[in-house]
Amino acid sequence: MKIGIVGCAGRMGHMLVREILATDGCALAGGTEALGSDMIGRDVAEIAGAEAAGLAVGEDAAALFQVSDTVIDFTIPVATARHAVLAADMGRSLIVGTTGLDADHLDALASASDKAVIVQAANMSVGVNVLLGLTEQVAGVLGDDYDIEIVEMHHRHKVDAPSGTALALGAAAAEGRGVDLDKVAQRVRDGHTGPRTTGNIGFATLRGGDIAGDHTVIFAGDGERIELTHKAGDRSVFARGAVRAALWTQGKAPGLYSMRDVLGLN
Ligand code: NAD
Repeated sequence: MKIGIVGCAGRMGHMLVREILATDGCALAGGTEALGSDMIGRDVAEIAGAEAAGLAVGEDAAALFQVSDTVIDFTIPVATARHAVLAADMGRSLIVGTTGLDADHLDALASASDKAVIVQAANMSVGVNVLLGLTEQVAGVLGDDYDIEIVEMHHRHKVDAPSGTALALGAAAAEGRGVDLDKVAQRVRDGHTGPRTTGNIGFATLRGGDIAGDHTVIFAGDGERIELTHKAGDRSVFARGAVRAALWTQGKAPGLYSMRDVLGLN
């Protein structure tokens, strides 16, 4: 499978390039960067710390889709929405790891999925996807006398909060309880907040250092507490999951899929 990487000079871009080069059955089709990036023209593999592959970083996403079977996108939401249109127009599959997508960006993915195979997951690690399943299950068993709080910590460079994974965990908990996350999410607390509202799902965001991604879901009842925690040791777990998703798209019908579909957890 020929795999292209949009955003190939990013932190995840580098990981993805190295993962593709190391995975049997995959070939690196090339990579793009944002217009005006000083990485344009450099060797895609060399800037990722691998041996030069003779592929220059480009700025024309359509040209990359042309030579790829699947494109992996860990960029920024506005670019991801444009890449989804290209995937649909050109009949290529697209793996989306970008987080911070709003309703318009998600609509762009949904409409593109009429014509293209799209896999989107806020977290591509196997462990986190197991945690999503457990969170839904535990929330379904415990009533709302167990308060749900989701705590996440990431490296100092992360630009969106709460993390896409924290929100996905919140959505899984809400699904387990049969409620709509938008109606019960408490994303920040500051000042005189008053007592906690029963049934709310709270979020707390920590930032610092080089932490790849820690998430804990707390179910706090009277006299007892359950905590489910996942810690990503390094970012290679996300790249491995994304490449696994890319390989999984072979022969699939157009549609919008999740990592739980890829891992057979649904
Ligand atoms: P980063 O800033 O290091 O990399 C993003 C790259 O995208 C940059 O190099 C940027 O120049 C490039 N880019 C921006 N617009 C572009 C465009 N139009 N065309 C091509 N390239 C473009 O960020 P990062 O740490 O690699 O994270 C990227 C995204 O992936 C974030 O949203 C992050 O939250 C998400 N992420 C998801 C997972 C997951 O498992 N789903 C894991 C880690 C990070």
